[in-house]
Amino acid sequence: MVSKSRVDIKSRGKRFLKKVYYAFLELLLRAGANRLVFILSEMTIDRLQSETDAGVFWLRSRDAINGTTVLPDMNHDLRTRFCSRPFEWLEIGAKDLHLCCSAWLPTPIGSSDDPVAAWSGESAEKIRRSILDKSFRYCSRLYCPYIVKGTLPFDNGVVPQTSARPRIINLSYDFSCNLSCPSCRTRPFVANSAERAGLDNYYSSKVAPLLSSGSVVNVTGSGDPFASKHFRSVLRDLAARHGVMIDLQTNGNLFDRRAWEDLSLSGSVRRVRVSLDAATEHTYSYVRRGGRFARVLENLAFLMTLRASGQIDFLGIDVVLQARNIDEVPGIIEMARTIGVDKIRFNTIRNWGTYSAKEFQKESIHSAMHGNRARFEEVYRSGIFSDPIVDQGNIRQAIGLYSSNIDDDHDVGHA
Ligand code: SF4
Repeated sequence: MVSKSRVDIKSRGKRFLKKVYYAFLELLLRAGANRLVFILSEMTIDRLQSETDAGVFWLRSRDAINGTTVLPDMNHDLRTRFCSRPFEWLEIGAKDLHLCCSAWLPTPIGSSDDPVAAWSGESAEKIRRSILDKSFRYCSRLYCPYIVKGTLPFDNGVVPQTSARPRIINLSYDFSCNLSCPSCRTRPFVANSAERAGLDNYYSSKVAPLLSSGSVVNVTGSGDPFASKHFRSVLRDLAARHGVMIDLQTNGNLFDRRAWEDLSLSGSVRRVRVSLDAATEHTYSYVRRGGRFARVLENLAFLMTLRASGQIDFLGIDVVLQARNIDEVPGIIEMARTIGVDKIRFNTIRNWGTYSAKEFQKESIHSAMHGNRARFEEVYRSGIFSDPIVDQGNIRQAIGLYSSNIDDDHDVGHA
């Protein structure tokens, strides 16, 4: 077993190296080596998506190359803005807890072992102070869609009170899924019965005590709610609780009328987001490996009946933009319009550790270093993303443009 002091030394060593690295980037930037800083920060992000400091250097060098600060208020200066998330929102992952989507605010507030203590602990307070002191220093300028879109609300001067328990809870601690999408995992994973017993115990001892009437629970960003036997039993429990509302993020393959009825979800679901990523069976079978395109379309038709009858408030489609689907963007938007969903949200692909840096460079068509980046720009500049049904997520940051056609959707969703 590795001793605690050795782990401490290792992590202190890493922190020191990081400091030296970013001091070096700062020196380069001051010396006017903007392109070099841009390339180095982009390479850092490709390898380690959680590096929010690299994101800031990426933006500063990009703006220096452009000779202008493209988003003068939103990129570097959030002094007039506020975000309520860290005061009411808790993401429960398999290992760590976060006060926002961990893809946008990667610094954890503690281990998942004790959500109650972490919620009011010093790490959580440190992050809340960063919102109040307007540094937003833990938030990613590249990936938080509210920063990118410029839709963070203006600060009204009222000092927020942190609620005793989180009002919105995001359950992302079971990775079970029926698919193995290349952007998410290298092989399928479904929890076995011993693992499920542990998850069931965790839910009843650590998660359920956080719930109260008025709670909103999002399931899930880590897998699929309907492919997880654990989350299916959680959904049954949540649906039976008075005043608790459910948001669902799903690949849609297993979310049919039968699941809706079996889990007694009627009256308990607020919002549903379905990850689609393709307009053709061929592309879908690659980007949503293991899924069935025709089945998702059938299930989306069923979900539209729930939306049309007012049983759910919102139905959205999520798309991870990548080299494989860039040519299908018009088709995906057209499909979303035909189905009648409320919004179709685009976000750039990220490397969650399933790609080598080289593989990721091949997929990340939004990257300034991608060989076919011109195609991404061409699709963007065609104006197709200005359609009112489109939520541009974080893609505008990749293009470096600012448009006033933004929506104000400040919801629970994931990147
Ligand atoms: S939504 Fe954005 S601004 Fe708000 S806490 Fe999360 S990362 Fe920060």
